[in-house]
Amino acid sequence: MDLHKLIAELEEKNPAQPLYIQAAKEVLETIVDFVNANPKYDKYAIVERILEPERIVQFKVTWVDDNGKIHVNRGFRVQHNMAIGPYKGGCRFHKNVNQDTMKFLAFEQTFKNSLTTLPMGGGKGGSDFDPTGKSEGEVMRFCQAFMTELQKYIGPETDVPAGDIGVGAREVGFMFGQYKRIRNEHVGVLTGKGLNWGGSLIRPEATGFGAIYFLLGMLAAKGDSIKGKRVALSGFGNVAWGAALKCEELGAKVVTISGPDGYILDEDGITGDKIVYMTELLATRNNVVAPYATKYPNAKFFPGKRPWEAKVDVALPCAIQNELNFEDAKILVANGCKYISEASNMGCTTEAINYFHEKKIAYAPGKAANAGGVATSGLEMTQNSMKLSWTREEVDEKLKAIMNSIHENCVKYGTEKDGYINYVKGANVAGFIKVADAMIDQGVI
Ligand code: GLU
Repeated sequence: MDLHKLIAELEEKNPAQPLYIQAAKEVLETIVDFVNANPKYDKYAIVERILEPERIVQFKVTWVDDNGKIHVNRGFRVQHNMAIGPYKGGCRFHKNVNQDTMKFLAFEQTFKNSLTTLPMGGGKGGSDFDPTGKSEGEVMRFCQAFMTELQKYIGPETDVPAGDIGVGAREVGFMFGQYKRIRNEHVGVLTGKGLNWGGSLIRPEATGFGAIYFLLGMLAAKGDSIKGKRVALSGFGNVAWGAALKCEELGAKVVTISGPDGYILDEDGITGDKIVYMTELLATRNNVVAPYATKYPNAKFFPGKRPWEAKVDVALPCAIQNELNFEDAKILVANGCKYISEASNMGCTTEAINYFHEKKIAYAPGKAANAGGVATSGLEMTQNSMKLSWTREEVDEKLKAIMNSIHENCVKYGTEKDGYINYVKGANVAGFIKVADAMIDQGVI
């Protein structure tokens, strides 16, 4: 493959889509050697084909707020690649969602889902609907309007959405209800469902748990352990919550969480009832973290700042893309941080990642480290197909095994001559192989 030509074409074909270009470029740059060493991929134009989403649906979502005012939002579903299983990936409700966001997330999802070892293709959806401050009735009406259109394009064997930023159990419930009402089918068309109507144990915790299980692999690869490590988390949603729970259980000390308004530094450690309080904060839907410092006065709130200035051993971005930049990376490394496990999707900028690589810091990209969420969605789909439920222990064991296998694959394809594990390369090559080989088997379609 001709890397420069492909990148030039990518930029030309996707004007004003910087996130998609960032995600795709990273993959191209890390798989080029592998692809060139295996001519079959060029013969079947796999790289060119994998860069093009199989289908993009954009639709209008009209809904009425509590005051009778009519709103119009955009809904999206990007069905990126179906080679190894039905399209699978969450839905994001966030004011900044546009086609670029959806495309980059669906692209990442294809590689991530491939890494999980489960039969799931890649997709992503969402809307520029901003849930901040919306009433339950407004959120329900929005979800119903969104699903009224989305249901035309999804199904348990076609495309299985789930949650992401702004979409939790409540929204999945509203969307599931509407799908059921229109189609008259009670099927596993969404994951992240409630436990008494088809959901899986551990699914709420899975992304955070998985990121910590992955971190255990990174630590073990350096003969290190998690005990006593100081951890910076960003965000205060479902992912940060799961990670905080697992850190407490394994003896690591979480000292930060954050919101769009700033970050909290709690030197006493974010444990026990404070982790429960994170869910209460989230439930207010105000999207601010400052009230934590009022409730726990020993903690400090830093308005407008990001948590990466705290002195920690481990950083876990758990919020949104590009939330950790070059400047943040320099501060983290200068403060002695040795491990970065990305629980958000594309949480670090390219410049930050390059800096970690240069300084030989262990850095795991989201598509490897946060795959536990979608992997457990895959386990939910399996349980739905079998029409039975596994115990908490069974799901947790499977999740651990999946995260271990992802780590092993990263080591297999990402270890460099000096022994440094380039997790970005490892994840991209390993994720690519399975999808690419399936595409070759299935012919030119
Ligand atoms: N939104 C999550 C992710 O980025 C989970 C997707 C899913 O469970 O389908 O992987």
